[in-house]
Amino acid sequence: MTTYPHLLAPLDLGFTTLKNRVLMGSMHTGLEETKDWNRVAEFYAARARGGVGLMVTGGIGPNLEGSVLPGASMMVSDEDVANHKVITSAVHDAGGKIAMQILHAGRYAYGPKCVAPSAIKSPISPFPPTELDEDGIEKQISDIVNAAVLAQQASYDGVEIMGSEGYFLNQFLVTHTNKREDRWGGSYENRMRLPIEVVRRTREAVGTDFIIIYRLSMIDLVPEGSTHEEVVQLAREVEKAGATIINTGIGWHEARVPTIATSVPRRAFAWVTKKLMGKVGIPVVTSNRINMPDVAEDVLAEGCADMVSMARPLLADADFVVKAETGQADHIAPCIGCNQACLDHTFGGKLTSCLVNPRACHETEHAITPAEQPKSIGIVGAGPAGLSAALTAADRGHAVTLFDKADRIGGQLNMARQVPGKEEFHGLVDWFATMVADAGITVKLNTEAGVDDLKGFDEVVIATGVVPRDPGIPGQERDNVLSYIDVLRDKAEVGNKVAVIGAGGIGFDVAEFLVTGDSPTLDLPEWMREWGVADPEAVRGGLAPEGPQPEPPVRQVTLMQRKAKALGKGLGKTTGWIHRAELKMKQVEMIGGVNYEKIDDAGLHISFGEARENPRVIDCDTVVLCAGQLSERSLADALEAEGIACHVIGGADVAAELDAKRAINQGTRLAAAL
Ligand code: NAP
Ligand code: SF4
Repeated sequence: MTTYPHLLAPLDLGFTTLKNRVLMGSMHTGLEETKDWNRVAEFYAARARGGVGLMVTGGIGPNLEGSVLPGASMMVSDEDVANHKVITSAVHDAGGKIAMQILHAGRYAYGPKCVAPSAIKSPISPFPPTELDEDGIEKQISDIVNAAVLAQQASYDGVEIMGSEGYFLNQFLVTHTNKREDRWGGSYENRMRLPIEVVRRTREAVGTDFIIIYRLSMIDLVPEGSTHEEVVQLAREVEKAGATIINTGIGWHEARVPTIATSVPRRAFAWVTKKLMGKVGIPVVTSNRINMPDVAEDVLAEGCADMVSMARPLLADADFVVKAETGQADHIAPCIGCNQACLDHTFGGKLTSCLVNPRACHETEHAITPAEQPKSIGIVGAGPAGLSAALTAADRGHAVTLFDKADRIGGQLNMARQVPGKEEFHGLVDWFATMVADAGITVKLNTEAGVDDLKGFDEVVIATGVVPRDPGIPGQERDNVLSYIDVLRDKAEVGNKVAVIGAGGIGFDVAEFLVTGDSPTLDLPEWMREWGVADPEAVRGGLAPEGPQPEPPVRQVTLMQRKAKALGKGLGKTTGWIHRAELKMKQVEMIGGVNYEKIDDAGLHISFGEARENPRVIDCDTVVLCAGQLSERSLADALEAEGIACHVIGGADVAAELDAKRAINQGTRLAAAL
């Protein structure tokens, strides 16, 4: 008897059977655009070998005007068919099934040729779209159908027609973006004509034994979004038109509600999909922030859906399903929802990877092979850099000893996990602990390794991390001045009025920690109130009419930086806006362009500009220093002085811009080469 009977049950689609209920959701990895088709194929084949029931590719454009970006991958020619055959044959050889997502971006297409139902510019694109005429609409339909036919020729098991997230088909559905008065606009019957025609004509063209997934936006989270009644009506029509599976889309890209970030509660939207269960006869898939087999199993056992879509968790661990099947769920590298190496890369025009698994999308280029000659390796520092180096080295057959002066592994991850909304870091530290224990690594905690301890190892790796930067502010020696380590790690007492010096990732984290009571991430109703999410059965689009209703802040916090620009500009591309919005909701005052003059009984004295004008006193009972960090290199320097070679990684190597993504990547790559 498996621990996950619902998740691992096969799904009979009539003409074909999926081996389990795991759908790997579409991700725009940028791999297809590399045109290195063997590399793309290996990415998907690795997930097929890992046991995923059905995979969906990243969005592939049906034509130029509908492609997300100029140069984005399309399915329009025989050459495209030949290229995609490399993917499908690798996946089929590995025993998997794969559908190609057809993504027409409509007004979200990042280019001057973009088209839409009405000429209304999206708030997240600089390009105003051209309103399509009747012929233009017909062309879009036949291009989408043509892409499906070519996908079938390329031996895909099916296609996913992207109808959610505010893309082209979704834009026709709601009056927010569709102001037409012809047969493609006006009444709901008219507005849903396009998606239905697309599905109907696709089915006609591909015949019966081909999967058509329709990704349907079940809660738009934008003004004038669909009602639940409309969602059900569309789902039924899409079923009638020939869809095999309905997948869930949550929120438009322009929505001001986070939908997949780490601070979104796990399975936060499964209740939305559940509303459709029993109302259509085809399988329904749920999605968003489902990252572990137990979460997926619960969602299915509770009847929220027939299948679960997970995308980023399959970046974090290609063997997710196999590990769940073989009783090794605690070995699954957890997706922490950070977006740092996946969506932030996508939106930054970089190839996707994964913070916890730097091999994701780099399978062919970043191989980890058994060591030719096993060595003894001493690693100092059990933060993300040292841990990753230790695991990879041990995996390759080296004998690893890992030292840390703390009483636990995890380094700075242990501080991140204290921050409300970053609870997923607990799972990451637990995963490292499990893997380190299993890998037979000798762990020496509470041990400040010195030069003598490291003599005799074949290789020495220094991952001693960072120390806080001293900002040198007069008065900072006072008892009421704390460092972020005192606050996050040592739980020092903090007053009710706090000045936070430094507004980098850590300043924002500390501010969040200080203003938040119980974490809304662990309380779905509270999180929904905080972001103004309502039941789409009661309110169109699922946006509460009263707007966000956050809990009042636990403390009064002022967050400052010396740079004159807006605070939080350096935070993650796809998550920075969430952190800024959260602090605004908690009435955190954010001040840029300050000089820190002194700290005394009255509080923190600041001034502005080179002329040190406009003096102001921030009335506070506690000051927290989050002024960045410097590399802790003393051990590396001592080793070098004794002529002992060592490799320096993570924050000990470069402190600026340090984050777990770079630390893990560097540790893994170093150990892959030792
Ligand atoms: P950081 O991002 O480099 O921020 C340092 C802050 O200190 C800045 O606001 C800087 O702004 C200020 N500062 C620098 N020198 C100062 C000085 N001499 N006196 C006063 N203020 C000074 O560093 P961090 O916040 O320590 O974060 C470290 C790394 O951890 C970050 O790079 C980040 O990637 C990572 N992290 C990431 C997240 C995340 O959410 N992704 C969260 C936490 C940490 P001014 O120079 O303008 O004053
Ligand atoms: Fe998940 Fe972060 Fe990896 Fe993206 S980078 S897959 S969010 S752990």
